[in-house]
Amino acid sequence: MLIKRAALLDGTITDIRVDTRIEEIGADLVAEPGEGVLYAGGGAVLPGLHDHHVHLRSAASALDSFFVGPPGVTTKAQLTQLLSNATPGPDGWIRAVGYHESVAGDLDRTAIDALVRRVPVRIQHRSGALWILNSEALGRVGLAEHPDGRLHSADRGWSDALQQRETDLAELSRRIIAYGVTGVTDATPDLDADAMVSLVVAHRRGEFRPRPSFLSPGKKILHDDRLDLDSLTTWIAEQHGADRPVAVHCVTAAQLVVTIAALRAAGPHPLDRIEHAAVVPDDNLADLAELGVTVVTQPNFVAERGDQYVAEVPAAEHRELWRVASLLNAKVPVALSTDMPFGNGDPWTAMRAAVYRTTPSGAVLNADECVSARTALTMFLGRPERPGVARTVETGQPGDLCVLSEPPATALAELDAGMVAATVIGGELVYFAM
Ligand SMILES: [Zn+2]
Repeated sequence: MLIKRAALLDGTITDIRVDTRIEEIGADLVAEPGEGVLYAGGGAVLPGLHDHHVHLRSAASALDSFFVGPPGVTTKAQLTQLLSNATPGPDGWIRAVGYHESVAGDLDRTAIDALVRRVPVRIQHRSGALWILNSEALGRVGLAEHPDGRLHSADRGWSDALQQRETDLAELSRRIIAYGVTGVTDATPDLDADAMVSLVVAHRRGEFRPRPSFLSPGKKILHDDRLDLDSLTTWIAEQHGADRPVAVHCVTAAQLVVTIAALRAAGPHPLDRIEHAAVVPDDNLADLAELGVTVVTQPNFVAERGDQYVAEVPAAEHRELWRVASLLNAKVPVALSTDMPFGNGDPWTAMRAAVYRTTPSGAVLNADECVSARTALTMFLGRPERPGVARTVETGQPGDLCVLSEPPATALAELDAGMVAATVIGGELVYFAM
């Protein structure tokens, strides 16, 4: 297809011929017979965004789930009202996501039974690593005798029973491409081969348009109470021995420190990643740079949960939270992502969070970590396998583009998903805002 009058980020107005790759860029390109033409009208044309850390199955499930955590639900009374009035989904279950114990403490089966007894209820903790089921739900997944109904993702055996259901990937796909996103990396830790194959098949069939990438199998979630340097080092060495980079999830300083030590001991792989890096002490900035490891982070959590951090994290440690600018200054490759559905899946919201770092109440968390709009945008343009290296609109680059309704200066000033006018994947127009 041919895109007429596209504005590149440097302000150049040009035409772009795109197929599976960008074939030609130049003034006054002429449409070939039968070639589709999209008039960008001076709107910015960018490489399609890539969301470098998402959970697709959970995101598809979350589409018909109730959200039961802050900021929407903050009290036990609100939780009670929501669950007791909830209409079950087509499969008869009530599903809820986003729970945090600040709402009504550590829920268990008895507490949910008191609200809903006859309908199966499953509530996912916002960490994504814990589900709480009522007695009816436990009976349906063969765990009627479970002591408290709190199921951790680390406990194998039941998670497949919970996850198996029709998920609406097509609807999720529509939402993702409307953000101008042309590729996603599924970072789900226990994603098995079947799940990956089914996503790839859905992509080939056109049910799921964004290009899927996977971190599996070289990825690991750490738990503070089970941190073990030797076993982590051995695991990393094994992955690297098979020429597989690793992606280690680090949400605490302890996890980061042990991961850095393990990467040092095992030796780094050029495509290694650290997911989240929610807390980075000053001392570790240089370590990360030296290891060459890419940090895939989510400053959108500042915009979503910032007030809770301000309240719960000692003030002296605020500077270590969800860092971006200091990582870039230390020459650490950094990419952004949303962690959808645990974070809001709109990457433009995440970009604004990286620029302004405003909490829901309007405070600014860690202003030293703010980056420019151009930098925030660029951190969503990375290559799937090298998130810290941005794609560009140049001949030979992938034919995946995001066309905005506004010129570059306005686009950078606004960073708003509402500006996405069209999304092109592999030279095919997959989204067009009417
Ligand atoms: Zn995640």
